[in-house]
Amino acid sequence: METVSGRPGTLRPEDWLMVRPEGLYCSPGDFFIDPTRPVPRAVVTHGHGDHARAGHGRVLATAETLAIMARRYGADFAASTQALAYGEGLAVGDARVRLAPAGHILGSAQAVLEHGGQRIVVSGDYKRRHDPTCPPFEPVPCDVFVTEATFALPVFRHPDDRHEVARLIDTHRRNPDRTLVVGVYALGKCQRLLCLLREAGYDRPVHIHGALEGLCDLYREHGIELGPLLPATVADKQALAGSIVLAPPGAIADRWARRLADPIVAMASGWMGVRQRARQRGVELPLVISDHADWDELLATLRDVGAPRVWVTHGREEALVHAARGMGIDARALALVGFEEDES
Ligand SMILES: [Zn+2]
Ligand SMILES: [Zn+2]
Repeated sequence: METVSGRPGTLRPEDWLMVRPEGLYCSPGDFFIDPTRPVPRAVVTHGHGDHARAGHGRVLATAETLAIMARRYGADFAASTQALAYGEGLAVGDARVRLAPAGHILGSAQAVLEHGGQRIVVSGDYKRRHDPTCPPFEPVPCDVFVTEATFALPVFRHPDDRHEVARLIDTHRRNPDRTLVVGVYALGKCQRLLCLLREAGYDRPVHIHGALEGLCDLYREHGIELGPLLPATVADKQALAGSIVLAPPGAIADRWARRLADPIVAMASGWMGVRQRARQRGVELPLVISDHADWDELLATLRDVGAPRVWVTHGREEALVHAARGMGIDARALALVGFEEDES
């Protein structure tokens, strides 16, 4: 690969998008993308806690992401906010910013940055498969593609979501007296699983743990149909027998779930593809339902965006860097800190 470093007057992508302790910094626009510490100006790709934090000065994000942040952190989560619709461009300093759908959760976006005739796409978290709760990932041709690598190993090949949901419904039908408790992350996974259940024809009320109510309401306010929901209170455990209960992962592991009538513990997460993790969590029915791209989707995405350079971050950088190089891409790992594997 030709290198342009040292050639006077030639802009390198790493001269205008770089890693700082606060996060990924766009110098011509003087803003950070998904900063992990409070900064004056932030572009936030989506509402998960490792990307969207309270305490920034100005926050630029989709209206949905801003609504999610306000619901989680309170209306004063930032000094000021600006909503940007998908596809709408904005000049920020000497950079241009636009947001493209990432297909990850409601409001999730890729940050498309332009400066000096170059385009860098910071994809945030993304997936490529059908999700009724958000528009699909849009491949944006670019000079540099910054990709996540959460499930970037060939062992991570997620099955069809419909197959996993069919297993859930089947287990429920075969155990009419037991309570089927499914661990779901509060933002995104919960609402997506509800939509997938409805698409599979499950139309009975689903009971939800109190910690999931606020974000389910928010999704409904944004036009996402979740079907009939009822509160899941342990006090009423006989009423929950024979029904599906959604609860945060923390609740399925503790006494909350064990007080239910003869519970079957399930969990919906990309990590459920790792049998050991399911066992550690005491999960009887692991459901591999992920809001991240699997190995094949990551490679397909590199082909689709066609970027000659790829920077790989938060996850298993090594394997994806190696595979990308094999595709003739100038790939390298970008050492960003502060991204957890929560909410995957
Ligand atoms: Zn996320
Ligand atoms: Zn993330």
